[in-house]
Amino acid sequence: MAKDKIMEVRAIENGTVIDHIPSEALFTIIRIMGLDRDTDHRMTFGLNLESKRMGSKAIIKINDRYCGQDEINRIALFAPMAIVNTIRDFEVVEKRRVTVPERIEGFVQCANPKCITNNEPVRTAFDVVQRGDDVELRCRYCEKVTARSQMKISK
Ligand SMILES: [Zn+2]
Repeated sequence: MAKDKIMEVRAIENGTVIDHIPSEALFTIIRIMGLDRDTDHRMTFGLNLESKRMGSKAIIKINDRYCGQDEINRIALFAPMAIVNTIRDFEVVEKRRVTVPERIEGFVQCANPKCITNNEPVRTAFDVVQRGDDVELRCRYCEKVTARSQMKISK
């Protein structure tokens, strides 16, 4: 007797599906995108879903919300393999890859506690340095390098 498969995450009619997120990055991405403060949209988060490519992955589905390329590039720091699908009438009408931007402003804190951005109301600004598969951020104020594992989200 065949068992019915239960869909782990429901399909959405219109909106955005972000797929191929590393499971450990899900909550960081929720914060980066401000989804933790968004009470207007219906959202579904899937964590520790099976993935042939990644072993385990997370997925975010947001109804009736679309993302600009700048917004999705921010998540590239933590989910470089992510695919952002735009859904209309239950169909994927666009698939976008994320790309790590060359410069990042705001939303990540400098790892140097003495940096002006940690002590004065100054917005952080970094140059992104690619190291193989990994990325680091070099502060434009104090030149301290913040590794991905040290990155803390501000705001
Ligand atoms: Zn700094």
